[in-house]
Amino acid sequence: GQKIIIVGGVGGGATVAAQIRRKDKESQIIIFDKGDHIAFSNCGMPYYIGEVVKERDDLLVPTDTFIDKYDVTIRTNCEVTGINRSTKQIHYKSDAGTYEETYDKLILSPGASASIPTVEGMKESCMFPLHTIPDMDDIYSYIKKEQPKTVAIVGAGFIGLEMVENLHALGLDCTIIDRSDQVMKLVDKNMAAIVEDHLEEKDVTLILDDGMESYSDDGKTIHLNSGDTVQADMTILATGVKPNTSLASDASLKLGSTGAIAVNDYMQTTDPNIYALGDAIETKGLIIEEPRHVALAWPAHRQAFIIASHLNGEAIAYKGTMGSAILKIFDLTVGATGNNSTSLKQSGYTFKEATLQSYSHTGYYPGSDKLWLKVLFDENTGQLYGAHVVGFDGADKRLAVLTTAIKAKLTVADLPELELAYAPPYSSAKDPVNILGYKASSMLD
Ligand code: FAD
Repeated sequence: GQKIIIVGGVGGGATVAAQIRRKDKESQIIIFDKGDHIAFSNCGMPYYIGEVVKERDDLLVPTDTFIDKYDVTIRTNCEVTGINRSTKQIHYKSDAGTYEETYDKLILSPGASASIPTVEGMKESCMFPLHTIPDMDDIYSYIKKEQPKTVAIVGAGFIGLEMVENLHALGLDCTIIDRSDQVMKLVDKNMAAIVEDHLEEKDVTLILDDGMESYSDDGKTIHLNSGDTVQADMTILATGVKPNTSLASDASLKLGSTGAIAVNDYMQTTDPNIYALGDAIETKGLIIEEPRHVALAWPAHRQAFIIASHLNGEAIAYKGTMGSAILKIFDLTVGATGNNSTSLKQSGYTFKEATLQSYSHTGYYPGSDKLWLKVLFDENTGQLYGAHVVGFDGADKRLAVLTTAIKAKLTVADLPELELAYAPPYSSAKDPVNILGYKASSMLD
């Protein structure tokens, strides 16, 4: 056996430890995390704040359970501060002091951090990012203690929108502010417009094309670039994430063009004894192989499997990231996979797009509701580059079908041939995916 050190013990780190142990009973595995908790469910935090998830403990895996199950050593509240590649040592610090530990293999899963703009007059006491359990606890206790009535959510990406839904459920008056001209930049503008209408129906105030200029009034008045002001008892800062790369770059490991850690198909950094995964790394897109930094749980879990296999002598390549993502915002589901118009244009691709407004299932069966689908595809070959879905029911199913179609390299002409199961509660004899396929096929050159 060898000595394997893992930096970061949550999405990627805890998973890679578990995957390694499944294949390798001998090696010593030590996980370092600078926080209090390992293996917590970041993705559940908005729902705990909204009291959909009632028990805080439901988001946490007890450390003892993890140790017993996977026979690992866990050092929480220990921050890894440096890597010495020539002596194969890491340096770390805890409240008790600073220490070293040697490794045979090192795995970096330090994740990303909330990227927070600095704006004049900001007051930490009423402004919160949401990236860690302490962030979640701060928001939760602020709401309990201060009983805010109004909240500004800065950033209309998936964490911002999940917070809107959950804070709205607690009775807060929500204003979303985003400097771009649409919400959910993951999907194209015509699909985002459906989400924007839904937010307005729910009495959420939406301010687009505008950003924070300064704060006054003890952080309760936001002055926007346009000169407008927003009053908010609290602010959620959901302005994106940046990969945690300082350990890697200080050790002269290569970073990619997105600024995240560069790795090969087996998740090795430029030092073959050091692997990296998750929100800290850059991968290539599955379809057009452009550099991508995707901070989502599926890639981290797949990469954990790739690393555990590689350490076990099996060379299974990571094929690339599609960036499949899904979000619930009130009654709507919105999802995307593959490339959107912006990323295709950035990579110099020409493409066609087809959008369909359809229904979740047969109109005469109760509960049928609107469903919108969009595909982006090559105008000659019909190769699918990406898909977007918005709807009230059955949207997640269509996203899964289109994701699978893209991965299987199906073309738009294959979509009408998918024999998707039909009964009135679920679909129509021709599924919306089939109809979209007919529409897109007729547009091929
Ligand atoms: P993390 O899980 O963030 O773990 C990194 C860990 O490394 C942290 O615990 C940190 O303390 C530790 N660390 C960093 N530097 C050091 C150091 N120097 N020394 C020691 N420890 C260190 N993804 C989805 O796919 N679907 C969702 O619905 C979804 N919802 C989300 C909601 C929220 C609010 C957030 C914040 C994220 C969400 N994500 C979601 C993203 C998902 O959680 C991440 O993609 C995933 O956790 C990535 O795993 P990771 O190991 O790269 O990073």
